[in-house]
Amino acid sequence: MGSGIGAAMAVKPDLKIELGKQGVFVTTISDLYNWGRKNSVWPMQFGLACCAIEMIATTMARYDLARFGAEVFRPSPRQADLMIISGTVTKKMAPQVVRLYNQMAEPKYVIAMGACAISGGPFKQGYNVLKGIDRYIPVDVHIPGCPPRPEALIHAFMTLQAKIDEQPLTGSERPRHLDAEAQGEFPIPVQGAHDLEPPVNRLVWPLPAPAVIGTDAENCG
Ligand code: SF4
Repeated sequence: MGSGIGAAMAVKPDLKIELGKQGVFVTTISDLYNWGRKNSVWPMQFGLACCAIEMIATTMARYDLARFGAEVFRPSPRQADLMIISGTVTKKMAPQVVRLYNQMAEPKYVIAMGACAISGGPFKQGYNVLKGIDRYIPVDVHIPGCPPRPEALIHAFMTLQAKIDEQPLTGSERPRHLDAEAQGEFPIPVQGAHDLEPPVNRLVWPLPAPAVIGTDAENCG
């Protein structure tokens, strides 16, 4: 089998196409593995605000996200590998979002859908709104807009598929689920006296948080 993999990797694209016309298909383990993964990404069933309505529309007959292998949204994080953060993430909901993310099995991915999810959007100045879920969990694809249309979510989904397709199975660029040292579970923030604590997860948000007068700079969201 090892020599078969090597032979497939050495086949030139033109020859590969020509062989395909003859009914002989050659591939590599990584191509086959990634092809299976990218075409069976199942989203988790939850929405946070108005963007969720666009997400729901994406699954219905007009757009039909199932065409991409994303079948019925799963009601349990144990059965899902894609979290679509669709809507405003309030600081009250942020711990629940991180907890659900932690409960998902690897490999898992996140799409942050809409201005609210990626930055707080029109509510950015609100004391109660998180200024981007990427402060707590790693986001694979950001979708701008308020709200993004279903086409934008489909584009994000295809972007994620392309990302999965290109992942090498070995080396420093390998996906997290193939790296025993990589961390896939993060601290769940708690409601502190003035803000969420910690204000950001430094493992995924290395940028300095803006200072707020009257509080410790390290505790600012
Ligand atoms: S980005 Fe706009 S549409 Fe989406 S949740 Fe925020 S306010 Fe609603």
